Amino acid sequence: MPKVKKAHCYVRDYPGVFRTDGAILFCTFCETNVSCDRKSQITQHLGTSKHIENSKLKSNKDQVSQQFIKNHLIKLEQIIKI
Ligand SMILES: [Zn+2]
Repeated sequence: MPKVKKAHCYVRDYPGVFRTDGAILFCTFCETNVSCDRKSQITQHLGTSKHIENSKLKSNKDQVSQQFIKNHLIKLEQIIKI
């Protein structure tokens, strides 16, 4: 099925943005299905204000969790030294 192949291509082209179960292309930021019959449908989705907002929120969240993990590790190191 060419459609399946396409979904995988978009997952590869946009790592971290899309995922697929083999048939359906899924936007990880918007938690929604994205039609991938045409590439224009992908670029259109990427350009929607909803997607841009969601990707900003997601990347902010990731930064916060990364900082949290870093602080957590520093605390652990301090505990080990004591
Ligand atoms: Zn999206």
